[in-house]
Amino acid sequence: MSASAGGTVDTHCPYCALQCGMGLRPAAGDGGVPDVVERDFPVNKGALCGKGRTAPAVLSPQARLTGPLVRNRASGLLEPAPWADALDRVAEGLLRVRAAHGPDAVGVFGGGGLTNEKAYALGKFARVVLRTSQIDYNGRFCMSSAAAAHSRAFGLDRGLPFPLADIPRTGCVILVGSNLAETMPPALRYFTELKENGGRLIVVDPRRTRTAEHADLHLQPRPGTDLALALGLLHLVVAEGRVDEEFVAERTTGWPEARAAAMTLWPELVERITGVPVPMLREAVEMFCGVPEAMVLTARGPEQQSKGTDTVSAWINLCLATGRAGRPLSGYGCLTGQGNGQGGREHGQKADQLPGYRRLDDPAARAHVAGVWGVDPDDLPGPGRSAYELLDALGRDVRGLLLMGSNPVVSAPRAAHVTERIAALDFLAVCDVVLSETAAMADVVLPVTQWAEETGTTTNLEGRVLLRRRAVDPPEGVRSDLYVLNGLAARLGREKGFPADPEEVFDELRRASAGGPADYSGITYRRIEAEDGVFWPCPEPAAGRAAAHPGTPRLFLDRFATPDGRARFVPVLHRPAAEEPDGDFPLYLTTGRVLAQYQSGAQTRRVAELNAAAPGPFVQLHPRLAERIGVADGDPVAVTSRRGRAVAPARVDRAIRPDTVFMPFHWAGEGRANTLTNPALDPTSRMPEFKVCAVRVERAEPR
Ligand code: SF4
Repeated sequence: MSASAGGTVDTHCPYCALQCGMGLRPAAGDGGVPDVVERDFPVNKGALCGKGRTAPAVLSPQARLTGPLVRNRASGLLEPAPWADALDRVAEGLLRVRAAHGPDAVGVFGGGGLTNEKAYALGKFARVVLRTSQIDYNGRFCMSSAAAAHSRAFGLDRGLPFPLADIPRTGCVILVGSNLAETMPPALRYFTELKENGGRLIVVDPRRTRTAEHADLHLQPRPGTDLALALGLLHLVVAEGRVDEEFVAERTTGWPEARAAAMTLWPELVERITGVPVPMLREAVEMFCGVPEAMVLTARGPEQQSKGTDTVSAWINLCLATGRAGRPLSGYGCLTGQGNGQGGREHGQKADQLPGYRRLDDPAARAHVAGVWGVDPDDLPGPGRSAYELLDALGRDVRGLLLMGSNPVVSAPRAAHVTERIAALDFLAVCDVVLSETAAMADVVLPVTQWAEETGTTTNLEGRVLLRRRAVDPPEGVRSDLYVLNGLAARLGREKGFPADPEEVFDELRRASAGGPADYSGITYRRIEAEDGVFWPCPEPAAGRAAAHPGTPRLFLDRFATPDGRARFVPVLHRPAAEEPDGDFPLYLTTGRVLAQYQSGAQTRRVAELNAAAPGPFVQLHPRLAERIGVADGDPVAVTSRRGRAVAPARVDRAIRPDTVFMPFHWAGEGRANTLTNPALDPTSRMPEFKVCAVRVERAEPR
């Protein structure tokens, strides 16, 4: 453990994928929460947003669970119980479901905030102990479309294939569907430095967000039309003779088909589809192509669509056609959202993957991982349902669920339906820090340690593996998720193989990942501490070679990770959103996050300072729309989609298109935005269409 003078422990923020470094100084008296102190970590250079600064508030016993809760079968109420009884009840509940309905009737749902060790142990627990194929996690709702597009183009998915520090040194960035000024504010400095260095910033977003205010050019397309926008830019690149023919010939495959697909849309048609005027399209191409190096970065806007994978592919095609990939200071990257959104998808809690980013349907991968786990490869289940499909199957094919680090009652699409499915389960166990809306429905709630109370690794959006260090002791009645898996495995017949010590788990993870796409085998806790993070892939050196692998901050400079070393164009065509506005539901709804809250709000809604800054949901709508429905700022507005109705105060704002309303999704209750969202799934990534659905809005009666 790294501790500096005065007992301050260096660690990382529990929230977003930036994983800002911070120091924690023990509280002066007994029972207080530690103070956050500045720490010169390369990613954030001491800066923190309000969420990070106030994160210790959730360590307070008043803000969180401090002992297990078990539902009394007679009264139906959750009541305190000893740990041994609570674990017995979970084991009994899971076994009962398995005995009655088979192993695949037991589901496991993880989270993108879990450390690498927990994600790894959870995947192993599902496949080795429960022997179920039914495991997926909420990261499916985060960056899965970008991951799928990244893999099919480059043969490997790492959110950013270059460090954030490269951004200020490039010539132009197209930032698509990211409001990072609110979601990860310390990252904004990379873009302001880009501009100070003479670089240009193009922001694509249906809203004029705080991020868009920094743009040299803001393209404001209709929700769900990013794919057409990217095709339109590529069409202009071709028409204006700006294709990097040499790069395309030497380092890519599939250009003729991708070119033909792009030529199906011409600029005037793109303007009609997207609402972005042709002169702005031309200006964007001039900015992007007029510099030697450039990048495209995407986030949830283009990704959380029923065509999210193809949309990201369209942006990647633009990079490839202009030679902006696999070269210094150029490339495509995804700004992952959740704290361990990157590592969480690499170590086996995804329905189709094994640790090290190996494919579950690859016989060689199964043999390798089964060898590390000491099981027969034939005993490993195959791929299971994706996150929404798993939630949709609850109470039907999947009758028992172990849920760790997720709150789908608030965060899943079509949330009222998902809540009904959860209620229909025969058995639900939830491991969480707080009594979230989902935990409140459980048969057993297991209170687990959080970031500052446990040591473990995360992998930030750059692919930099970090060490969160234990800085304080948890409350007496709280245990780690690894302790839970250890206790459950023992009760289900596996005494060995599930250590509660995180470093022991990490060492096994390293072996399981060795030789895989996300190779962590050369990374140790000691190295991470000494180097303040190590970029994967980082293989262990071959026996007899003294030098350690340095890690890989920049990918693809020599070759892409495809069998022939070339990047693959994927021809994609424009298609509308799964649900477009019509006579009954004439407006677009898009959803997102605000500065002072994080994801489902389970933690941040318990922090007084954050609640004061963002106390509840709202409906952002244009003044023209507000006038049409007779609504003034602050009036209650009802938003209705084919899936339900939500009510929240109006926020009348010229920053949004007149045909679109926006709601943040951090809250439960009548203002729950995900009551409205559409679970239409991307055919490749199985990402739901959070970012666009059709709604109508009207003034609601004041309560
Ligand atoms: Fe934490 Fe993200 Fe804020 Fe940094 S930007 S302090 S990681 S929430």
